[in-house]
Amino acid sequence: MRHRIAVVGGGPGGLAFARVLHRHGHHVTVLERDPAPDARPPGGTLDLHEGLGQLALDKAGLLAEFQALSRPEGQAMRILDPDGTVLRDWRPRPDDRANPEIDRGQLRDLLLGPLDVRWGREVTQVVPRTRAGVLVHFADGREETFDLVVGADGAWSRTRRAVSPVTPHYTGVTTVETSLDDVDTRHPDLARLIGDGSLAVYGVNRKLVAQRNSGGHVKVYAQFRAPLDWQAALDPADAEAVRAGLLTLFDGWAAPVLDLLHHGTAFVHRPLYVLPVSHTWPHVSGVTLLGDAAHLMPPLGAGANLALLEGAELAEAVATGPEDLHEAVRAFEERMWARAGRWAEITTAGLERLVGPNPAEALAHFDRVQPS
Ligand SMILES: Cc1cc2nc3c(=O)[nH]c(=O)nc-3n(C[C@H](O)[C@H](O)[C@H](O)COP(=O)(O)OP(=O)(O)OC[C@H]3O[C@@H](n4cnc5c(N)ncnc54)[C@H](O)[C@@H]3O)c2cc1C
Repeated sequence: MRHRIAVVGGGPGGLAFARVLHRHGHHVTVLERDPAPDARPPGGTLDLHEGLGQLALDKAGLLAEFQALSRPEGQAMRILDPDGTVLRDWRPRPDDRANPEIDRGQLRDLLLGPLDVRWGREVTQVVPRTRAGVLVHFADGREETFDLVVGADGAWSRTRRAVSPVTPHYTGVTTVETSLDDVDTRHPDLARLIGDGSLAVYGVNRKLVAQRNSGGHVKVYAQFRAPLDWQAALDPADAEAVRAGLLTLFDGWAAPVLDLLHHGTAFVHRPLYVLPVSHTWPHVSGVTLLGDAAHLMPPLGAGANLALLEGAELAEAVATGPEDLHEAVRAFEERMWARAGRWAEITTAGLERLVGPNPAEALAHFDRVQPS
């Protein structure tokens, strides 16, 4: 019998799950809240690791297309002291394909391919029922029943409530994101400062990161320890007020570094929330989670990679695993929890060092993870 399978969320995890199941000849219903693929900006660039995100794309039959689109040169990393001194200037070898970068929009389009996504379907509640299956409620009042519902609906997952009472908590670190367009022609000095990949500057309890995306687009992230309401006195729609607030926070840093903030356009506030390290739940028949919905962790290069691989592995388990769907899901969960728990520990410790009181620890962290 064919199972009725739905995945809530068309992010990296949900699309990888659907795409690998599709490759195995299975139908899956993708339920996505956004009304269209381009309804909101897709976000910054992602580096996909060989043993994680790239492995998932291989399972989906998309590795060659990824390699054609991705930017190996984007692995380059330059680190400056707040006074502008270059501390590290790491460039990948020409054949280095360990962690090439890809724009999120490109990755989404690659995964979407032939998939039939139901756009504009916001899930409000998922109710496991033993006999009839799992009931999914939608914001428009409709409901539908499935045999398996996979929650790949991100940090504020609605599906998670069906399996766990846990909600994300604030890390004490917040991010304000801005961006620059046509950096090579409009800001050539900044283009040279950033190089082919990323630039990071670590200060006391704060850092500035600039990451090159394709097409001369650069995302800038100002990250710092602050109360959740640090912006309360500012009008978030007033870009000049937010810029002035940031320039005060980074006062004394070298002028070329602060130009990243001077030339940034719109500012978006993103406080960093996480789920507890090693979040697990008692198995619930017919419902599971993957990606950020299962293990939201600090954004240090692992979250999308894990979501992709989990999507691909769960799809393989469903398509080729034990006859009993729920046994396949249970085995998947054990594997996901063990791996995600290790990454949650690494990224939690990483955030402490990278946005912490001692910038020398941030440099030591870089030296540990980056091959010389
Ligand atoms: C600034 C920043 C930089 C990052 N950089 C990296 C990086 O370099 N490498 C890396 O691996 N990770 C990175 N991450 C982490 C990464 O973005 C996430 O871990 C990843 O996107 C998680 O994928 P996901 O599919 O689980 O969830 P998401 O990407 O959050 O996708 C969830 C989807 O579900 C949809 N949805 C939500 N609620 C509902 C609902 N109720 N009904 C229907 N649909 C719903 C959403 O619209 C969305 O499309 C970064 C994160 C941030 C914030």
